[in-house]
Amino acid sequence: MKPSAGTASVLGMNRIKMEDPPTCAYIMLGSGCRNSCLFCAQGSRGKEENCGKDPKFLSRVNWESEKDEKVLQAISGKFETGDVKRVCYQVTDSPDVFEEVLSAVKKTKKLCDVPICVSITGISEKQIDELIEAGAEKIAFSFDAANPELFAYIKGRKWEDEWALYEKTVKHHPKVPVIHLIAGLGETEKEMAESVTMFYAMGSHVSLFAFTPLPKTPLAGRKQPELSSYRKLQTVLYIIRKRKEIFEKIILPQVENYKNPEIQNENSQKTMPFTGETKKIENPENVSPWNKFFGLKKVECEIINQCEFLLSGTDDAEAEVMREKLIISESGNLLEKNNCGKNIPDETVLMATDENGDCGDCFTKTPELFDKTWLKHDIFRFEDDKIVFNRNDEVFLKKNIPSEAYQTFGCADCNRPFYNEKPNQTPYNYPRVLTKKELQNAVELVFG
Ligand code: SF4
Ligand code: SF4
Repeated sequence: MKPSAGTASVLGMNRIKMEDPPTCAYIMLGSGCRNSCLFCAQGSRGKEENCGKDPKFLSRVNWESEKDEKVLQAISGKFETGDVKRVCYQVTDSPDVFEEVLSAVKKTKKLCDVPICVSITGISEKQIDELIEAGAEKIAFSFDAANPELFAYIKGRKWEDEWALYEKTVKHHPKVPVIHLIAGLGETEKEMAESVTMFYAMGSHVSLFAFTPLPKTPLAGRKQPELSSYRKLQTVLYIIRKRKEIFEKIILPQVENYKNPEIQNENSQKTMPFTGETKKIENPENVSPWNKFFGLKKVECEIINQCEFLLSGTDDAEAEVMREKLIISESGNLLEKNNCGKNIPDETVLMATDENGDCGDCFTKTPELFDKTWLKHDIFRFEDDKIVFNRNDEVFLKKNIPSEAYQTFGCADCNRPFYNEKPNQTPYNYPRVLTKKELQNAVELVFG
């Protein structure tokens, strides 16, 4: 097994001192790779002979070879002390590597209950099932490139193949996939934002990376993305996550209700302005840019509508309807509609009673706060395929955007320190909570 240098330090295997140690143990499995991603030091551009050569780098991280038992025991010990909160097996596509990773997952689970991710490619649906069965909590799908054309160029493979496996995994294990995307491979900001949106509409979190040139790779001469561009993407990603939260908590349950013909009426339509339609559409290419991701397959209208909602938000009137009638109390708490009508929990607020005195609109406050500004359709827009934030919302963003927006995001407790940057460089993804000044600087970059 090859723990990253930072992981080896947390596991007590070297003496590297770090201000922000990894909270997840990153372990590389496999030697060299028969895939050919242009940015990767492990890639072979299709040459089998590179497999087994054991290049040292994956991203800009150095990986150290250690005995399996020593690594696993150390992980178990550090999980007990809370220094390691997750394990991420990063697997190169080399011969017999699947057996290696399956065995690693099983052995890890035997020793302790640490959550496990596997970032792997070139496996089958059945093998994904085996990994989940063995105890893997998350499987990373490294699409990396933002769209099918770029994927083919950068990864030398077909997007459709990766998508087919991803789609099946979502269907059977909706919470398992996590998506890796890399900004700076040649996509536009709009393409990346669209891609992120599409994966959220499919129900997966996206973990964003910044392209990092590595010596001797085909993309060694390419520059890293502008930090300001990356900050805009992170801000859009955060907004999409907030909108997804609203979608899952509020809109989706209503769509479920809407599907029930007994409660279809004029009012129910009014209270769900975004996803009222659930009919299938025959020609998605005429309706939405998302068709390029779904091909010319028949697509559930809901997915396309959800994409539109996550990326475009709502107009002011719709947002106001949601705030007043549905989801957000005066204090800004999200409200969840109760179904029981009678067993009202303490924290419930009664919004109205019907003519029989029963609660008609009975909501429970959730702990989260939500501001409708996150839903505003014009909080950002695209100009020449670049993201432009609305100056009128600058004060709101400065006040409300949390540190989390600019920290590493993906699986819980994954912080990936120095994965995409040198120690003296401003991090693309902060591995820790930002200081006030850092947060202010980050938002300022969004507005140029
Ligand atoms: S599949 Fe992973 S390890 Fe193999 S070349 Fe691509 S990025 Fe590198
Ligand atoms: S988000 Fe982090 S922990 Fe999860 S698979 Fe990706 S690198 Fe691993």
